[in-house]
Formats: sequence, structure tokens, C-alpha cells
Amino acid sequence: MKKSRFVTGLAKLLFYARMSLVCAWRYHSIAVLWKASRFTSVFFRHKLVKLPSGEYKLDFYMPRYPTEAFFTAIEDKVLRKPPRPVSVVLSITKACAYHCPHCYQRKDAPKELPLPLLLENVRKLRDFGVVAWAVEGGEPLLRMERLEAVLAEISGLEVWVNSTGHGTTPEKIRRLAELKVTGVMSSIHSVEPDVHDAFTGVKGSWRRALDFLHDCQREGMLIGFNTVLSDEQIVNGGIDEIMSLAAAHHCDYIQLIHPKPCGGWMGKAFDTALSQKAARIAKEAQIRYNSSREPNAPVLTAQVFEEAPEMLGCCCGGIDRFYIGASGEVQPCEFVNISFGNLMDTPFETAYGRMRTCFATPCEEWTCCTHASEIAQWAGESLPLPWPQTERLVRNWKTGTPTKIYESIGIYKP
Ligand code: SF4
Ligand code: SF4
Repeated sequence: MKKSRFVTGLAKLLFYARMSLVCAWRYHSIAVLWKASRFTSVFFRHKLVKLPSGEYKLDFYMPRYPTEAFFTAIEDKVLRKPPRPVSVVLSITKACAYHCPHCYQRKDAPKELPLPLLLENVRKLRDFGVVAWAVEGGEPLLRMERLEAVLAEISGLEVWVNSTGHGTTPEKIRRLAELKVTGVMSSIHSVEPDVHDAFTGVKGSWRRALDFLHDCQREGMLIGFNTVLSDEQIVNGGIDEIMSLAAAHHCDYIQLIHPKPCGGWMGKAFDTALSQKAARIAKEAQIRYNSSREPNAPVLTAQVFEEAPEMLGCCCGGIDRFYIGASGEVQPCEFVNISFGNLMDTPFETAYGRMRTCFATPCEEWTCCTHASEIAQWAGESLPLPWPQTERLVRNWKTGTPTKIYESIGIYKP
């Protein structure tokens, strides 16, 4: 079984030079080449991943180079007016046997969009140019017929499946590979099985996740952890522990998600000083694990680094990404429990248009944090806030500090 290779230093520099030549040839425009170089320069801070297929990944959230999906994503950011989002997180079911306290859809309605309507919207998004997909649940393997139908519509694009591995079988894993899933991510929240299992509320969930990842890797898919570490865990060396575990299991990516006051944790108070300290440590760790100092470690993708002002800032609301919940709610991000419309009664175009009006300019401030207490005040027993409430809530939201990279490229100027 061939594995990915991590590329740093001079080899990475040469790759970027080659890619610039390819873009220059493709676009025949100095202005477009400059914008594309400016946009991809943020990814230069990551380790490059060379896949067994010969393709490259510059960034966890970007499609593989040199696929058509990659160039669509670049063109969405440098050529199109208005620019389009690159990615969506799509929940196909809320069904799940786990009980994670932080679950962002914990208070969502346990409804599912009827399959024909789900597929109609998947096709709409695909044809609209969304090229990077994170398909998830709940636990998507529990609703395999829905998962297969969705994956069949987007086969060949950049497709990741988030799964705990619960309900997996060799046949299901083979189907994911046949449907050309790029990679799978499983949650691992501790290097200690008992601590992880206590968090998910399911004994054996740690072992199951790792076994599932190995099985998927054997079928040729990339693998990684989605990890939520508390600020205390980070301050006490939790990132290095997780990275060692990930390296031992030949992971490609670790996505480090910082705890947020949404879903099950809505209203939760975090110690600001400790959070800032943890964010500093996570940023330093990201720089180290993406450098030639750690040539064999997986790529660390810490949200606090990716969403920093000098990177892409907050890209919710259809800037780079948005979220569609299992029941069809169109949200700016999975971590922001407000809805711009439900696909059961609102066409995607309408919900998307409302969302883009609200998030017209990319900003540095993290919406999931800056507006969390307002959302919590308005929230009832059920989430996300429905559109009529969202409409009243966002009416007075102020535009934040424009993200520098997008300001310099100028694509979001009216
Ligand atoms: S976070 Fe994921 S695994 Fe945990 S309860 Fe929510 S949907 Fe299930
Ligand atoms: S709201 Fe913005 S900063 Fe927060 S997780 Fe979503 S994209 Fe990132």
C-alpha cells in the first residue's frame, strides 16, 4: 500500500514555482496570475502532501492539484464576480449512537431532508461550483443509502467523509473507495482510549475509529483525526501527544478544532486568558509541524492558525464555506447555529443570497465566538435559530475588520 509523502523546504518551493508556470500558461494574464499567487501564498505555510496518485494537496480544504476542481476553486477566488464558495459541510443524517457533549447539532431537529430533495440540492451545489465537500452525520455510515447516493453525485470532486467508524463493514469501506472518496476523518479527542470513550459516551469508540481509519487507508483513501482538545489539554502538551499518535498511525492530516460555545456547548464560558495561551501554543505547533523540522509528521491544521488574520480569517457564510444541516437548514458554518432558510420550503438560491448579504465581506473576527452570546440569548430548546429570528438577529450585525488577503485581491469589493 503506497502512502502519501510530505514535501517541505526547497522541493516545496520548486513545486510552487512549477504551479505558477502552469497557472501563467492556463490564464495568460499577469493580473490573474498575481491574484492566484497571492491566494495560494497562504497555503505555502503548510506542508505539501504528495499523494500516491501523483497529485498534490496544498491545503486540507482545497481540492487536489492539478484536478479541474482545484482550478475551479482558484478561479472562484480570482476570476469570478461575485466569487463563489469552495466548500460545504453537508450533514446527511442526525442519526448517531454517540453522546459527545460539544456536538454542534445536539439541539438540531432529528429530521432528514427527503432523499430526492437532498440530491436535488447536492446537484445544485455541484453545478454552482462547490468543489470541496465534507459529508457527515450524525454518523453517515448508519444511513448508507443516503451516503452512497450523495457521493455518487459528487464523485471525482474533493470529497471527505467524517465518520466515527460506527456501523462500518468491509463492503461499506469498499463503496467509499469505489465512489472516489478522497479521505476520511475520525474524531480522536485524546491519546488515552478511556478518556476519549468517556467523551463520546461509547466504550470502544477510540479503538473503532483507529481501526476504521486503517481499513480506509488500505483502500487508498487519505486519513486523519478531527480533534477537539480543551485549552487545558493544549497547555499541558496535548498537541504533541496527538501528533505522535497520528504519526504512529500514518495519518495524513490532523484538524485541531478549538472548543466553541455552540450546539451542546452553547452558553459555555471559556477562560479567555487560557484560551489565548492555548491558541498561541496551537499556532506555534502548526508552524513546527508544517516545517522541515518535522518531516514525517502528518500535516497539522489548527483552526486558530488557519483562521488567523494573516491567513484567511473567518470564511463562513459562503465566503469559502457554509453548512447544511441534516434537516436542510442552511447555516453560515456548522459552529454558528443560525439558519438562513430550510431547504424544505426555501430554495437554496434564496437562503444562499440572504447569507451572502449578511456576510458580504470576509472579516478577521470569528463569528462563532464574537456572536455566540447573542445567539445563546435568542436560542430556545431547538437549534439553529429559524430564518425569521435569524433575520432580526443579524440585522444589526456590524461588518468586522476586512481580511487582508481578500482585501488585497479585491474580489469582494462591491
Ligand atoms: S459530534 Fe459527531 S459523533 Fe459526536 S454526537 Fe455529534 S454527530 Fe455524533
Ligand atoms: S464561524 Fe468562522 S471562525 Fe468560526 S469556525 Fe466557522 S469559519 Fe471558522
